[in-house]
Amino acid sequence: MAIMSAVKNIMGMFDAKKCSELPHGIKKGVEKYIKEEESILVTLLNWRVVYKAPRFIDSNTYFHTWFILTDHRIIIARNSSGFKRFRDIPLSGISQIFYELDYSKPRITIASPGHEDIIEFPKQASHHCAGLEEIINEAIGNARVMLQNSPEGEFIFCGACGGSILRRSHYCSECGAKLNYT
Ligand SMILES: [Zn+2]
Repeated sequence: MAIMSAVKNIMGMFDAKKCSELPHGIKKGVEKYIKEEESILVTLLNWRVVYKAPRFIDSNTYFHTWFILTDHRIIIARNSSGFKRFRDIPLSGISQIFYELDYSKPRITIASPGHEDIIEFPKQASHHCAGLEEIINEAIGNARVMLQNSPEGEFIFCGACGGSILRRSHYCSECGAKLNYT
């Protein structure tokens, strides 16, 4: 019962055509989180995101979250009044990506070393998914070129958790620690 009413609510959101525009609070939070020269390309409310981590206990499934594509990464964020990030997937670290956007459940499967993210959109979002493959592929291509042209490399290590994170990020994408550059 709880699941069915959740599904109904999600469909209601899509009927309201509010599935492609970030709520103000989240937008402000994302803009603060990403790098200064980074820009948001696509935002789309999804139905479900399945994250498969190397350790089973780190794997997770998130319902009704925001898919946020920037020119550097894909962010999966909670759908609430403020910005709360679940996943941060650097585009230059993606090894394979599969698109199944013509189906009743449009889906993108993203493989990065050791990780897999499956992002599912509801049927109602299909028209928003048209062209998504080209936009994402172009963003990945550009991110790889940026990485090649970056003499210092695009990643640094977080001093708090040792995670590999995008250089010039304001916060660590693994542990959330604030990063300072001198
Ligand atoms: Zn960290």
